[in-house]
Amino acid sequence: MEQSQTNHIYTARVVKKFALSSKVFLFTFTKPVENQFSFSAGQFINIDVGNNIKRQYSIASSPLGNGTFDLLIDIAPGGPGSKYFEQISEQDSITFSGPMGKFTIASETGELIFLAAGTGIAPFKSMITYLLTKTETSPQEQKPQLYLLLGFRYEQDMFLVDYFQNLQNTYPNFHYTLTLSQPPEGWQGNSGYVQSYIPAELFEKSTSHFYVCGGNNMVQGTLAYLREKNIPDERIHFEPF
Ligand SMILES: Cc1cc2nc3c(=O)[nH]c(=O)nc-3n(C[C@H](O)[C@H](O)[C@H](O)COP(=O)(O)OP(=O)(O)OC[C@H]3O[C@@H](n4cnc5c(N)ncnc54)[C@H](O)[C@@H]3O)c2cc1C
Repeated sequence: MEQSQTNHIYTARVVKKFALSSKVFLFTFTKPVENQFSFSAGQFINIDVGNNIKRQYSIASSPLGNGTFDLLIDIAPGGPGSKYFEQISEQDSITFSGPMGKFTIASETGELIFLAAGTGIAPFKSMITYLLTKTETSPQEQKPQLYLLLGFRYEQDMFLVDYFQNLQNTYPNFHYTLTLSQPPEGWQGNSGYVQSYIPAELFEKSTSHFYVCGGNNMVQGTLAYLREKNIPDERIHFEPF
């Protein structure tokens, strides 16, 4: 599964920049043909955001995709990476190295539980779309069961909500829960942190693997919760942004 790490420098052109919320953009890039750029679901690239400053961004699309790849960029932090992506537009090119990282799918069978906050969904969007496509024609009982628990702080932060709802409607082995940690008054949906919505029976299964991605506080809080539930470290995988 895992790709070797590479320091090769690539360029890729923006073919689409789409605002998913007031702070988060979906970018689609042409896949560089140099050295046949390829990656494993979950890996990230190291992008030159100007003045020799580098920032890391997880690839949000499946490695099985046609000649493009996607990134999900949150511009809220407001630093050099955020400003760079706020400014670039369609037809501009980015320079990057990679793919990098070992936050990839550990087992393609059993139960995969994805716990994401905000743009922490990016590597999971890649893993989920990859696994759903790859196992589409497998017998139902052999398909992995995928659980996505996706959290945002405020209602206005939400994005890709319908996208994952549509996946759930299409794939019986994909289970999706959305939650807000700071819901508005009258909110009818789930509230609180993503980990409190993990179906209890998944803690007991020796085939469950837990994947955690988001800001550092979210990741540390979720890891502490999983360890309290006696999940062994070899079945916990995480990437703090
Ligand atoms: C492996 C990896 C993968 C990543 N993938 C993605 C991705 O797919 N999409 C994405 O949007 N980002 C991703 N990040 C985060 C990204 O690399 C940058 O850290 C982020 O874009 C902020 O960069 P900046 O230059 O705008 O801000 P910086 O100059 O780095 O930070 C500006 C200020 O904002 C604070 N800050 C940093 N990050 C955040 C945050 N997330 N929310 C609020 N405040 C913050 C900092 O503490 C600092 O005070 C990833 C990080 C890592 C390590």
